[in-house]
Amino acid sequence: MTDTERLEKVDGPFYRNEVAPILPPKVLDFHTHTWSAQNWKVKPWESGKDGGTYMVTDEEYPPERLASDGRRAFPDRPYEAVIFGYPSPVADWEKDTAFVAAAGQHRGFYPLVLGGQELALPPGRLRRALDATPFLGFKVFLNWIGDAYGDKTIEQMLGPEEMTLANERRLVVLLHVPRSGRLADPVIQAGVVKLAKDYPGAQIVLAHCGRCYLPSEMRRAIGALRDVPNVHLDTSMVMDALVLQMVMDEIGSDRLVFATDFPVAAMRGRRVRVMDHWVDVVLDGYPPSAYRLASDGIRATFMAVEIAVAIRDAAERVGLTDARRRAIFYDNGIRLLEAVDQGRAIQRLRGEWR
Ligand SMILES: [Zn+2]
Repeated sequence: MTDTERLEKVDGPFYRNEVAPILPPKVLDFHTHTWSAQNWKVKPWESGKDGGTYMVTDEEYPPERLASDGRRAFPDRPYEAVIFGYPSPVADWEKDTAFVAAAGQHRGFYPLVLGGQELALPPGRLRRALDATPFLGFKVFLNWIGDAYGDKTIEQMLGPEEMTLANERRLVVLLHVPRSGRLADPVIQAGVVKLAKDYPGAQIVLAHCGRCYLPSEMRRAIGALRDVPNVHLDTSMVMDALVLQMVMDEIGSDRLVFATDFPVAAMRGRRVRVMDHWVDVVLDGYPPSAYRLASDGIRATFMAVEIAVAIRDAAERVGLTDARRRAIFYDNGIRLLEAVDQGRAIQRLRGEWR
């Protein structure tokens, strides 16, 4: 089957029947990447380092490709996205920042700069980047490659310089929590709660629901977030409805923001639980990667759409109102962006959109 045939015969009908009826008029995707390997010092999968083949993906992912993937997944809705670069030691920060700033001029895209203590930027450099470009916050830098990260703490990743700035300007702080225990790890929970309480103005968003892709992880994690209203969860790559149901049951749906993790979620397939780890079951043709299993013996659509299905099913189980369910796909996220620097950042950004 060609890609066009697949879009018409597989993706299109599934989207129209299963997902389109529950979406708001516009979709905001709170976690996407854009990059060019020209801004990398080395390709992770050629680095020879542990974890280098953890998430093998395209070397070029310009904003036009991201917009196109958004259109392919959600063909009848305007697609908007929070975008950021390649949050890894292989990226050259200056080049990556310039690339994302330029991509942020694309209508409907909301850029975040890479920030974090371990970038060791010169003092004041992050503040100058935020003054020069209407970034709405920062994606926290990950000082590791792939899944080779045993013992980082949140305190190591985020220091007073960037968090003071986040607190002052109500920046979005998009944080991929470290350690193998994820948000289910008490050390991580304590770190997140301390960060949220020390910097109540910061709008902390935990990527991938605190990396709790599995119910057994979310069960141990979600209670920690009950009393920290400035901590939010993005749904990128979370396709298990039970995980999202636990979130809605325990802390409600207002702090949940729809997100995909394009380009990863542009694959056709689904992230599933097998024993005590996730596995990405995908159609044939994607590069081999850890925890990725390919087959052409299945039917599959975009992972981005599977995330929406999981939200739909969780919302149905907890009896969420239609308005609250729709808000997960747009209002909950845009509210965070509009609060940055009392609305000045988003206003300036929209003025610069081409
Ligand atoms: Zn990501």
